[in-house]
Amino acid sequence: MSKPTLGIIGGGQLGSMLAIAANKLDIKTIIFCDDIDAPAQNFSNEFIHGDYNDQNKINEFVNKVDIITFEFENIPFETLNEINKSKPVLPKPSVNRIIQHRLAEKDFINKLNIRTTRYVSIEKKSEIDSVQDMLPGLLKTTTLGYDGKGQYLIQKIEDLETLNIDFSKGYILEKLVKLKKEISIIITRFDNKKYEIYEPVENLHEEQILKYSKIPAEIESKILEQSKLWAMQIAEELKYVGTLCVEFFIDRNDNLYVNEIAPRVHNSGHLTINAYNVSQFENHIRAVCKLEQVALKKISNAKMKNIIGNEISFYREKKYEQNEFFFDYLKKEIKSKRKMGHLTTLIK
Ligand code: AMP
Repeated sequence: MSKPTLGIIGGGQLGSMLAIAANKLDIKTIIFCDDIDAPAQNFSNEFIHGDYNDQNKINEFVNKVDIITFEFENIPFETLNEINKSKPVLPKPSVNRIIQHRLAEKDFINKLNIRTTRYVSIEKKSEIDSVQDMLPGLLKTTTLGYDGKGQYLIQKIEDLETLNIDFSKGYILEKLVKLKKEISIIITRFDNKKYEIYEPVENLHEEQILKYSKIPAEIESKILEQSKLWAMQIAEELKYVGTLCVEFFIDRNDNLYVNEIAPRVHNSGHLTINAYNVSQFENHIRAVCKLEQVALKKISNAKMKNIIGNEISFYREKKYEQNEFFFDYLKKEIKSKRKMGHLTTLIK
């Protein structure tokens, strides 16, 4: 059987690493992105630039590929659903409809009897008055937030006077968890009850942006098992195909909560490129292109550092040891808080 051509919507670093993994498997990739400078065009076979609502460009893209996947979850559900009528989109668009909306996502997780933080929907500023037991809390936009964008820490009700919050958007108010640790599970689902699952990754955020990841996570075995079980349960319930990330909180009493689900390859899984025989990116390509499932083997423990903003200049000049793997995302413009690259170090 000849290999399919894979279309990838989105052209950032995740698209780049997916294209590199596909290339290794002899799969041709075409990236479709609304950013003319999308870094992933450096690694794909072809690049199509267009707005995500430009029907002509979408048609051009869809006609050229056999299977479509995406590197970010905020593509409108309607767009993915339309594309799915002519070429398979994997993971399937209905997954995005749930996960794009923080309330729908949390309701879905709770229905599986999996713990999340306490949360309420907030549509009007005055509604916060009646749920003061949820404070201190984080007010988050229900859609389109990432890396702390669209999030407000509300310690007490008076804080609402000083924060300039646009309540024309929908919000969710989450009780603040007293965090001990954050971990994530990367899992690739191929088919019914067919998975490859990586060990939990321990993550450290700074200003709500992931800064460091490492394996092994320093957690109790009970938490290790529970996090894996919950990730499998979520992937199975979604009938997911491809790589998925479940992010967790562990509080000071060692309670585990699901924070959120990313229906895609994930920043905390970058270390799998060097630490495992098959990376999260390769596994995603294998699953969506229906290639062979290969049993995961860990090669080494590892830690990963995200290189953010101006830090990139130093890393572009630095000399590296044999156990260090630097990846430059080749972004045209350096911006503060922008992920510019990462460094994975294999450790004992
Ligand atoms: P999110 O965009 O929801 O993943 O939030 C980004 C980061 O903010 C998380 O990784 C946590 O470090 C922090 N955070 C978000 N929600 C909460 C919460 N309910 N309690 C404590 N920390 C949180």
